[in-house]
Amino acid sequence: MIADLHNHTTLCNHAEGSIDDYIQIAIEQGIKYFGFSDHAPMDFDPKYRMSFKQMKEYEQSVLDAKKRYKDKINILLGYEVDYLKNHIDKRVLEADVDYFIGSVHFIDGWGFDNPEFIGRYEHEDIDEIWQKYFHAIKEMAQSGLFDIVGHLDLIKVFKFMPKKTISSIVKDSLLAIKEADMVLEINMAGFRKPIGEPYPSIELLQEAFKLEIPVTFGSDAHKPQQVGLFANEITTIAKDIGYKQCVIFSNRKKIFINI
Ligand SMILES: [Zn+2]
Ligand SMILES: [Zn+2]
Repeated sequence: MIADLHNHTTLCNHAEGSIDDYIQIAIEQGIKYFGFSDHAPMDFDPKYRMSFKQMKEYEQSVLDAKKRYKDKINILLGYEVDYLKNHIDKRVLEADVDYFIGSVHFIDGWGFDNPEFIGRYEHEDIDEIWQKYFHAIKEMAQSGLFDIVGHLDLIKVFKFMPKKTISSIVKDSLLAIKEADMVLEINMAGFRKPIGEPYPSIELLQEAFKLEIPVTFGSDAHKPQQVGLFANEITTIAKDIGYKQCVIFSNRKKIFINI
């Protein structure tokens, strides 16, 4: 895997390992472009993210690593930002980064991908939460604030699947992503979850390919050992679908590289 743009640090309070540990494994895995995109601060759910005060420390430590490893690997700086209405903070959006990943982790304030709150699925109409989730993804794309769509179909994490066809639920979101000129990440974390497949699914990636939506790759590592895990699988998937290039970012500009 040539690029891996979705990786966390201990500042989010639910990851482990030092920045150097992550980079060391990335180098061993032959990754050429390695990005940190830790959970950006927000005045909601503060327990699972860095504080606003820690932004400088985070950015500086990634930039220091970029210098330290410049002969071995290209280190990029990003944030994974929650698309959550009324909680998107200017201090984050004004940060001087290579890219922003826009992600939806909440439906009506419910952290649906957190195993702590899995009980709520029993009380929800599955089709309705899928629709609400993808409505938020569409709005996130339309906001024009972000560069990469994080784990497009995260709502499948615990394998509660809709009765409606998934492509009909996702269609408008994909069109909005195309319209916004965003990049889709192929995120490997799904392999480590009950769903056992990448985000997005092969079916949705095929739809994205038809729309000529570019892709990038992300381990979504919360531990150094998760860096590059399932890299061969997702590279094969991307190539089989027809992708020949992936995208990395520098100062929020897309750069296409061969995969
Ligand atoms: Zn996380
Ligand atoms: Zn995420």
